[in-house]
Amino acid sequence: MSCCDAPGLMPIEEAMANILENTHTVKETETLPLDKALGRVLACDILSPIHVPPFDNSAMDGYAVRIADLDVSTTLPLAGQSFAGAPLKRQWPPLTCIRIMTGAQIPAGCDAVIMQELATVTEQGIQFDASPVTRHQNIRPLGDDIKVGQMVLSKGKRLTPRDLPMLASLGVANIQVYRKPIVATFSTGDELKPVGTPLGEGEIYDSNRYGTIPLFKKFGCDVVDLGVIPDDPALLTKAFEHAQANADVVVTSGGVSVGEADFTKDILEQTGEIGFWKLAIKPGKPFAFGKLNNALFCGLPGNPVSAFMTSYILVQPLLAKMSGDSDWKPEPILQATTHCAFKKVPGRTDYQRGIYAINEKGQFVVETTGNQSSGAFRSMSLANCFVILERERGRVEVGETVQIQLFNSTLY
Ligand code: AMP
Ligand code: MG
Repeated sequence: MSCCDAPGLMPIEEAMANILENTHTVKETETLPLDKALGRVLACDILSPIHVPPFDNSAMDGYAVRIADLDVSTTLPLAGQSFAGAPLKRQWPPLTCIRIMTGAQIPAGCDAVIMQELATVTEQGIQFDASPVTRHQNIRPLGDDIKVGQMVLSKGKRLTPRDLPMLASLGVANIQVYRKPIVATFSTGDELKPVGTPLGEGEIYDSNRYGTIPLFKKFGCDVVDLGVIPDDPALLTKAFEHAQANADVVVTSGGVSVGEADFTKDILEQTGEIGFWKLAIKPGKPFAFGKLNNALFCGLPGNPVSAFMTSYILVQPLLAKMSGDSDWKPEPILQATTHCAFKKVPGRTDYQRGIYAINEKGQFVVETTGNQSSGAFRSMSLANCFVILERERGRVEVGETVQIQLFNSTLY
């Protein structure tokens, strides 16, 4: 980590690389029952202990036959049944058929299942239509989906609702996952009041924690919420000490600008190490990253859009890496045509808030959410994408092409 007090602002790509370089995956793992493992990250590869399906079974409700018998007669008396969970127990005499249901074990010797819609029950037995019967038709063979010993999920996979049924089909009851990273967080500012209390003169509600804490939880972390700490160096120092002793990452909001009451950076210099501070992005310029004794540190800007947006853009990848989630990627950058002008001055990469739609030709179009002030959170609330305007770009006119990045599921 190199100190960055040099003039100029750090490009976001460099900041991101620096953050990831300094982030390590948690070492500790825990074993959870399958139904508690959703959203957790696998700490080891999963190899299938069994074949799935574990036996040849019927894909249809119908009749199990031997094709050779059908060459002799297309009407075969019924000799027994195989139902799901209740396989055929008795002998299967030649020139007969077996009633079989979907999922039921295929009786030994059977080489086709004929669906019941192609058969008629008669006094002489089951009469099969003349349609051709092919070997193994409607039979799902053992191991058709997954073979014993096959790797089905690899270490570093975050478990989704699509993974759990597959693991259950293998009989996996317990899963070894990484422990969740712990984020300790507090807001700073003498002006911040809790919701549910009246505002005094010059006061505002502490809104940042209502966005960042749910985000950290959605990113798969446990959160230690330390509330609001006033702009008092002694209290802030105490809060930092407590936070870093109890977390993997300390995330604060506010106090990282250059105002008289912005103490975060000074305290970090005394109690830890600053990696960088001030990015070439808008909003989010006064974002600080560093190390405390035991924990990493992210200092979010106080302005609500900046705090939320930097949590999403910069803290999310850090927490993904710390969680062991090796598949995590930012959403792809797409091209969209603007339906309105976007104000922009060259110098920083803008993450403006936009609303995209897909037009009748299947192309992305985008418009602004309006007021793009970093204090105007409605721009974030209305948005469904970021409009990423390159660092050196100026004002964007109607009909120009811009880059957009749709929100991932954590913002819904
Ligand atoms: P600061 O970074 O502390 O200078 O704060 C920048 C702006 O964000 C100021 O207008 C603060 O009042 C506002 N702000 C700081 N923290 C919060 C918070 N937790 N919730 C809402 N607004 C905040
Ligand atoms: Mg402040």
